[in-house]
Amino acid sequence: MGQTYKLAEHFISINGEGQLAGELALFLRFAGCNLRCSYCDTLWACGKDAPHEVVSLSRIVDIAKDAIENGVRNVTLTGGEPLLQPGINDVIGRLTALGLQPEIETNGAIPLKDFCAPCRPKFTMDYKLPSSRMEQHMCTENFALLHEWDTVKFVCGTRADVFRAKEIAELYKPSCPLYLSPVFGQIEPAEIVEIMKEQKMTRFRLQLQLHKFIWDPMERGV
Ligand code: SF4
Repeated sequence: MGQTYKLAEHFISINGEGQLAGELALFLRFAGCNLRCSYCDTLWACGKDAPHEVVSLSRIVDIAKDAIENGVRNVTLTGGEPLLQPGINDVIGRLTALGLQPEIETNGAIPLKDFCAPCRPKFTMDYKLPSSRMEQHMCTENFALLHEWDTVKFVCGTRADVFRAKEIAELYKPSCPLYLSPVFGQIEPAEIVEIMKEQKMTRFRLQLQLHKFIWDPMERGV
């Protein structure tokens, strides 16, 4: 079967976050994550026993071709942490060759330098703030590898997180768009806007997780 991948689920839906928010995309969710964020909403896909299908590259290509027949042009690789899958560069390469635009949702704890060639995908990279309890795992050298078509997402669970996001942006000066995303049910978006105004955080955009408003917050496969 050659190289295989642990695919937890695949479906077509709208992108909930990032620069392509609201656009249809094929989602490939891979099983396994090296972090355990306090607010994780996909913990079921993170552990060693996460339910998954073992799939070959050609199975992924078939899934992608189906999506293309349905007019989809974006593909989001998510998890868990998709970059933990051995051979994921081959998946990125094949999806790109099919004419899709791969976007990788990565947790900020994986060095991106190994995934910038031969086919450079679009990265939506999290920076884990203090309330996640995972900030010590962040690979800050990744900031230097980001381009304007990438995104950094700061998931904020507390007011202190918003201030920390500002500090990090001032320290590493990433050239790409920066999003502040409230943890659903933990901090009011209006509170974040107040801090943005007060602190003149003009480099940031507030983004709500669309899925949490459209579907049940715990719904899978949407
Ligand atoms: S990195 Fe993402 S998938 Fe992994 S534990 Fe944190 S929120 Fe969950």
